[in-house]
Amino acid sequence: MIKGTTKLLGVIGHPIAHSLSPAMHNAAISHLGVDFVYLPFPVKPGDLKAALAGFAAIDLRGFSITIPHKQTILPLLAEVSPIARAIGAVNTVYLTDKGWCGTNTDVEGFLAPLQTPANLAREGSDWSQKVAVILGNGGAARAVVAGCAQLGCAEIHVVGRSEQNLAEFHDSWVTSPMPVQNLQVHTWDDLSMLISQADLLVNTTPVGMYPHGEKSPVAAAAIARISPGAIVYDLIYTPNPTQFLKDAQLRGARAIDGLEMLVQQGAAALKIWLDTESVPVDVMRQALRQHLGLD
Ligand code: NAP
Repeated sequence: MIKGTTKLLGVIGHPIAHSLSPAMHNAAISHLGVDFVYLPFPVKPGDLKAALAGFAAIDLRGFSITIPHKQTILPLLAEVSPIARAIGAVNTVYLTDKGWCGTNTDVEGFLAPLQTPANLAREGSDWSQKVAVILGNGGAARAVVAGCAQLGCAEIHVVGRSEQNLAEFHDSWVTSPMPVQNLQVHTWDDLSMLISQADLLVNTTPVGMYPHGEKSPVAAAAIARISPGAIVYDLIYTPNPTQFLKDAQLRGARAIDGLEMLVQQGAAALKIWLDTESVPVDVMRQALRQHLGLD
């Protein structure tokens, strides 16, 4: 119930109407019985500075950020975490004595399904001999590169369409505050060769996303080269599973879909705002699944 004492959280973006975050966070808030509410705030690109001042004035406690503000907010924050600086994007903002501080919980979200007790029992925690192949070199790929570097992968290969974007992507990691030295970039022509070496194959492109669920970023001939022991991870959460994951599973690979990353990046943000280690991840997952019509 919203009362005079209720503290505000929210998400900013433009457009914001399709955000899944309010359903996920308000389900958790209600389950915990804490005096918070999480609201969507449509903020146009030119209005970000005014929105931040307004949020401070109404004592908003923290907020999530989506397109188009993830990068442009960086210079407006009092403090930015090293991981958000390395990724070049902030997805979570919280208030401290210094003012608005930003971080990025996508890496934590990406890593969580790879570090479940079941996965650790099966794969172990030593990634130092493992090869990661990442499809796409956009914003989400940056979180995935940071995650693979944290795992300690032996080799990280990124596959993209534009040689110029790939070169810039590579250079940004060499000069990053959290440098990644074992990163190589490739055009799609190399995929067939790379795919047979991959222990972890991650799709960060939108290819195969609703309403184009019949598409896959990887053609059948290349799917046939996936090692049966590989983990194949698609950041897309609708459809669930994607065609790419279905094809890889038929090949004997283990599939991870994007829903868990979405849940876990949200759970990591809620822990920061509520200053607790314990948030109801199951409730958040269930709220998302219901919202997406998966149950
Ligand atoms: P983005 O910054 O626009 O990057 C998209 C990347 O995919 C770019 O490198 C782009 O290549 C490439 N790409 C686009 N269309 C392609 C095509 N037809 N063939 C080959 N490559 C193509 O987007 P993003 O923010 O990284 O998001 C990417 C996907 O990840 C989306 O589906 C998003 O929903 C998902 N995502 C999921 C989560 C989660 O929590 N599960 C979190 C973040 C993102 P160019 O550079 O050549 O344009």
